[in-house]
Amino acid sequence: LVSRQWKRDPTPVVIGDREIREGKIFIIAGPCSVETEEQILTTARAVKEAGADALRGGAFKPRTSPYAFQGLGERGLILLAKAREATGLPITTELMDPEDLPLVTKYADAIQVGARNMQNFTLLKKLGRAEKPILLKRGFGNTIDEWLLAAEYVALHGNGNIVLVERGIRTYDKTLRFTLDVGAIAFAKQHTHLPVIGDPSHPAGDRRYVIPLALAILAAGADGLIVEVHPDPDKAWSDAKQQLTFQQFEELVAKAKALAKAL
Ligand code: PEP
Ligand code: MN
Repeated sequence: LVSRQWKRDPTPVVIGDREIREGKIFIIAGPCSVETEEQILTTARAVKEAGADALRGGAFKPRTSPYAFQGLGERGLILLAKAREATGLPITTELMDPEDLPLVTKYADAIQVGARNMQNFTLLKKLGRAEKPILLKRGFGNTIDEWLLAAEYVALHGNGNIVLVERGIRTYDKTLRFTLDVGAIAFAKQHTHLPVIGDPSHPAGDRRYVIPLALAILAAGADGLIVEVHPDPDKAWSDAKQQLTFQQFEELVAKAKALAKAL
Protein backbone atom coordinates (compact mmCIF):
# COMPACT_ATOMS: atom_id res chain seq x y z
CA LEU A 1 0.00 0.00 0.00
CA VAL A 2 2.84 2.44 0.65
CA SER A 3 4.78 1.43 -2.45
CA ARG A 4 5.11 3.52 -5.63
CA GLN A 5 4.14 0.41 -7.54
CA TRP A 6 0.75 0.50 -5.86
CA LYS A 7 0.33 4.26 -6.28
CA ARG A 8 2.51 6.41 -8.52
CA ASP A 9 1.59 9.93 -7.44
CA PRO A 10 3.00 11.32 -4.20
CA THR A 11 0.52 11.39 -1.30
CA PRO A 12 0.26 14.72 0.51
CA VAL A 13 -0.38 14.45 4.26
CA VAL A 14 -2.46 17.09 6.04
CA ILE A 15 -1.30 18.20 9.50
CA GLY A 16 -3.76 20.62 11.09
CA ASP A 17 -4.41 23.27 8.45
CA ARG A 18 -1.17 22.57 6.58
CA GLU A 19 0.08 20.00 4.17
CA ILE A 20 3.33 18.09 3.76
CA ARG A 21 3.80 17.57 0.07
CA GLU A 22 6.45 17.27 -2.57
CA GLY A 23 8.02 20.51 -3.74
CA LYS A 24 7.74 22.44 -0.50
CA ILE A 25 9.85 22.04 2.60
CA PHE A 26 7.80 21.40 5.75
CA ILE A 27 9.57 22.21 9.00
CA ILE A 28 8.48 20.85 12.37
CA ALA A 29 10.38 22.45 15.24
CA GLY A 30 10.22 22.57 19.01
CA PRO A 31 11.73 21.18 22.16
CA CYS A 32 12.54 17.54 22.81
CA SER A 33 10.19 17.66 25.83
CA VAL A 34 7.47 20.04 26.90
CA GLU A 35 8.76 21.43 30.22
CA THR A 36 6.86 24.55 31.29
CA GLU A 37 4.19 26.85 29.89
CA GLU A 38 6.73 29.59 29.37
CA GLN A 39 9.19 27.26 27.65
CA ILE A 40 6.69 25.90 25.12
CA LEU A 41 4.97 29.23 24.42
CA THR A 42 8.27 31.07 23.92
CA THR A 43 9.52 28.32 21.62
CA ALA A 44 6.27 28.16 19.65
CA ARG A 45 6.37 31.92 19.03
CA ALA A 46 10.05 31.88 18.06
CA VAL A 47 9.83 28.97 15.62
CA LYS A 48 6.64 30.33 14.08
CA GLU A 49 8.33 33.70 13.55
CA ALA A 50 11.33 31.95 11.98
CA GLY A 51 9.10 30.08 9.53
CA ALA A 52 8.23 26.70 11.07
CA ASP A 53 5.09 24.91 9.83
CA ALA A 54 4.38 22.88 12.97
CA LEU A 55 5.42 22.64 16.62
CA ARG A 56 6.86 19.47 18.17
CA GLY A 57 7.13 18.63 21.86
CA GLY A 58 7.24 15.39 23.83
CA ALA A 59 4.75 14.80 26.63
CA PHE A 60 5.40 11.04 26.89
CA LYS A 61 9.16 10.50 26.65
CA PRO A 62 10.88 7.19 25.85
CA ARG A 63 13.90 7.69 28.12
CA THR A 64 16.68 5.14 28.35
CA SER A 65 16.89 5.50 32.12
CA PRO A 66 13.75 5.09 34.23
CA TYR A 67 15.20 7.78 36.52
CA ALA A 68 15.30 10.38 33.73
CA PHE A 69 12.47 12.89 33.16
CA GLN A 70 9.57 10.94 31.67
CA GLY A 71 7.52 13.85 30.30
CA LEU A 72 4.60 15.83 31.71
CA GLY A 73 1.92 13.51 30.32
CA GLU A 74 -1.49 15.15 29.80
CA ARG A 75 -0.27 18.42 31.28
CA GLY A 76 2.26 18.54 28.44
CA LEU A 77 -0.50 17.98 25.88
CA ILE A 78 -2.55 20.81 27.41
CA LEU A 79 0.46 23.14 27.16
CA LEU A 80 1.01 22.14 23.53
CA ALA A 81 -2.64 22.95 22.79
CA LYS A 82 -2.14 26.37 24.42
CA ALA A 83 0.88 26.95 22.19
CA ARG A 84 -1.22 26.03 19.15
CA GLU A 85 -3.88 28.47 20.24
CA ALA A 86 -1.30 31.22 20.67
CA THR A 87 0.47 30.71 17.34
CA GLY A 88 -1.82 28.76 15.03
CA LEU A 89 0.90 26.12 14.56
CA PRO A 90 -0.33 22.52 14.40
CA ILE A 91 1.24 20.27 17.05
CA THR A 92 2.95 16.88 16.85
CA THR A 93 3.78 14.66 19.81
CA GLU A 94 4.84 11.10 20.56
CA LEU A 95 2.47 8.33 21.65
CA MET A 96 4.07 5.39 23.48
CA ASP A 97 1.23 3.51 25.15
CA PRO A 98 -1.65 2.41 22.89
CA GLU A 99 -3.95 3.11 25.87
CA ASP A 100 -3.14 6.82 25.60
CA LEU A 101 -4.38 7.05 22.00
CA PRO A 102 -7.72 8.74 22.88
CA LEU A 103 -5.90 11.27 25.06
CA VAL A 104 -3.24 12.10 22.46
CA THR A 105 -5.85 12.21 19.66
CA LYS A 106 -7.78 14.79 21.66
CA TYR A 107 -4.85 17.24 21.52
CA ALA A 108 -2.39 16.41 18.75
CA ASP A 109 -2.61 17.23 15.03
CA ALA A 110 -0.15 14.43 14.21
CA ILE A 111 1.01 11.47 16.26
CA GLN A 112 4.69 10.53 16.39
CA VAL A 113 5.82 6.91 16.67
CA GLY A 114 9.28 7.00 18.22
CA ALA A 115 12.25 5.01 16.97
CA ARG A 116 11.94 2.65 19.96
CA ASN A 117 8.36 1.78 19.04
CA MET A 118 8.70 1.39 15.29
CA GLN A 119 7.99 -2.34 15.56
CA ASN A 120 5.40 -2.15 18.31
CA PHE A 121 2.84 -3.87 16.14
CA THR A 122 0.02 -3.48 18.65
CA LEU A 123 0.62 0.28 18.58
CA LEU A 124 0.91 0.35 14.77
CA LYS A 125 -2.37 -1.53 14.29
CA LYS A 126 -4.13 0.80 16.69
CA LEU A 127 -2.75 3.83 14.82
CA GLY A 128 -4.21 2.32 11.67
CA ARG A 129 -7.58 3.08 13.21
CA ALA A 130 -6.58 6.55 14.42
CA GLU A 131 -7.99 9.68 12.84
CA LYS A 132 -4.71 11.56 12.87
CA PRO A 133 -1.69 11.50 10.58
CA ILE A 134 1.28 9.46 11.80
CA LEU A 135 4.96 10.46 11.84
CA LEU A 136 6.72 7.10 11.72
CA LYS A 137 10.31 7.29 12.90
CA ARG A 138 12.73 4.65 11.72
CA GLY A 139 14.03 2.42 14.51
CA PHE A 140 17.77 2.88 15.01
CA GLY A 141 18.30 -0.86 14.62
CA ASN A 142 15.92 -1.37 11.74
CA THR A 143 16.44 -1.86 8.02
CA ILE A 144 14.70 0.31 5.46
CA ASP A 145 12.51 -2.64 4.56
CA GLU A 146 11.37 -3.09 8.18
CA TRP A 147 10.60 0.64 8.34
CA LEU A 148 8.45 0.50 5.21
CA LEU A 149 6.69 -2.63 6.48
CA ALA A 150 5.92 -0.80 9.72
CA ALA A 151 4.27 1.90 7.57
CA GLU A 152 2.43 -0.89 5.75
CA TYR A 153 0.94 -2.04 9.09
CA VAL A 154 -0.56 1.40 9.71
CA ALA A 155 -1.83 1.69 6.14
CA LEU A 156 -3.27 -1.84 6.05
CA HIS A 157 -5.24 -1.16 9.22
CA GLY A 158 -6.86 1.86 7.64
CA ASN A 159 -4.68 4.96 8.03
CA GLY A 160 -2.76 5.99 4.94
CA ASN A 161 -1.74 9.37 6.32
CA ILE A 162 1.83 8.49 7.14
CA VAL A 163 5.00 10.56 7.07
CA LEU A 164 8.26 8.57 7.11
CA VAL A 165 10.99 10.01 9.36
CA GLU A 166 14.66 9.04 9.07
CA ARG A 167 16.42 9.81 12.38
CA GLY A 168 19.73 7.94 12.23
CA ILE A 169 20.74 4.35 12.91
CA ARG A 170 23.34 2.57 15.03
CA THR A 171 26.54 1.69 13.21
CA TYR A 172 30.08 0.83 14.33
CA ASP A 173 30.89 4.52 14.52
CA LYS A 174 30.05 6.20 17.82
CA THR A 175 31.55 9.64 17.03
CA LEU A 176 28.12 11.14 16.45
CA ARG A 177 25.10 9.92 18.42
CA PHE A 178 23.65 7.97 15.47
CA THR A 179 24.54 7.63 11.79
CA LEU A 180 22.15 9.61 9.60
CA ASP A 181 21.18 7.36 6.70
CA VAL A 182 20.68 9.77 3.80
CA GLY A 183 20.47 6.83 1.40
CA ALA A 184 17.34 5.70 3.24
CA ILE A 185 15.74 9.05 2.41
CA ALA A 186 16.56 8.78 -1.29
CA PHE A 187 15.29 5.18 -1.31
CA ALA A 188 12.06 5.91 0.56
CA LYS A 189 11.31 8.85 -1.74
CA GLN A 190 11.67 6.68 -4.84
CA HIS A 191 10.02 3.51 -3.56
CA THR A 192 7.07 4.93 -1.65
CA HIS A 193 4.51 7.63 -2.40
CA LEU A 194 4.58 8.90 1.20
CA PRO A 195 6.19 12.15 2.34
CA VAL A 196 9.65 11.60 3.82
CA ILE A 197 11.27 13.95 6.32
CA GLY A 198 14.47 13.79 8.33
CA ASP A 199 15.43 14.47 11.93
CA PRO A 200 18.96 15.93 12.08
CA SER A 201 18.90 16.43 15.88
CA HIS A 202 19.04 12.85 17.15
CA PRO A 203 21.82 11.62 14.80
CA ALA A 204 23.87 14.77 15.50
CA GLY A 205 23.56 14.51 19.28
CA ASP A 206 25.33 17.88 19.37
CA ARG A 207 23.90 21.17 18.10
CA ARG A 208 27.09 21.96 16.16
CA TYR A 209 26.25 19.27 13.62
CA VAL A 210 22.50 19.79 13.29
CA ILE A 211 22.52 22.37 10.46
CA PRO A 212 24.87 20.38 8.17
CA LEU A 213 22.83 17.20 8.71
CA ALA A 214 19.59 19.10 8.06
CA LEU A 215 20.96 20.31 4.73
CA ALA A 216 22.08 16.78 3.84
CA ILE A 217 18.55 15.53 4.56
CA LEU A 218 17.06 18.09 2.19
CA ALA A 219 19.71 17.50 -0.46
CA ALA A 220 18.83 13.78 -0.37
CA GLY A 221 15.29 14.66 -1.43
CA ALA A 222 13.35 14.88 1.84
CA ASP A 223 10.12 16.88 2.00
CA GLY A 224 10.99 18.45 5.33
CA LEU A 225 12.61 18.35 8.73
CA ILE A 226 11.75 17.71 12.35
CA VAL A 227 14.25 19.53 14.52
CA GLU A 228 14.71 20.19 18.24
CA VAL A 229 14.77 23.83 19.35
CA HIS A 230 14.84 25.15 22.94
CA PRO A 231 14.94 28.65 24.49
CA ASP A 232 17.91 27.68 26.68
CA PRO A 233 19.22 24.37 25.32
CA ASP A 234 21.88 23.78 27.98
CA LYS A 235 19.14 23.77 30.63
CA ALA A 236 16.80 21.41 28.72
CA TRP A 237 15.34 18.48 30.68
CA SER A 238 16.18 16.05 27.86
CA ASP A 239 18.55 16.06 24.86
CA ALA A 240 20.22 19.28 26.07
CA LYS A 241 23.29 18.98 23.86
CA GLN A 242 21.53 18.70 20.55
CA GLN A 243 18.75 21.29 20.75
CA LEU A 244 19.22 24.42 18.65
CA THR A 245 19.01 27.96 19.99
CA PHE A 246 16.42 30.24 18.37
CA GLN A 247 19.21 31.99 16.50
CA GLN A 248 20.57 28.73 15.12
CA PHE A 249 17.07 27.73 14.06
CA GLU A 250 16.70 31.00 12.11
CA GLU A 251 20.01 30.25 10.41
CA LEU A 252 18.81 26.74 9.58
CA VAL A 253 15.57 28.01 8.01
CA ALA A 254 17.45 30.57 5.89
CA LYS A 255 19.89 27.93 4.64
CA ALA A 256 17.16 25.36 4.05
CA LYS A 257 15.19 27.85 1.92
CA ALA A 258 18.28 28.78 -0.08
CA LEU A 259 19.05 25.11 -0.67
CA ALA A 260 15.46 24.32 -1.68
CA LYS A 261 15.65 27.08 -4.30
CA ALA A 262 18.85 25.63 -5.70
CA LEU A 263 17.49 22.07 -5.92
C1 PEP B 1 12.32 12.56 20.05
O1 PEP B 1 11.83 12.93 18.99
O2 PEP B 1 12.54 13.31 21.02
C2 PEP B 1 12.74 11.14 20.14
C3 PEP B 1 12.74 10.50 21.30
O3 PEP B 1 13.11 10.64 18.95
P1 PEP B 1 13.48 9.14 18.54
O4 PEP B 1 12.27 8.31 18.79
O5 PEP B 1 13.82 9.27 17.08
O6 PEP B 1 14.67 8.74 19.37
MN1 MN C 1 14.79 14.21 21.75
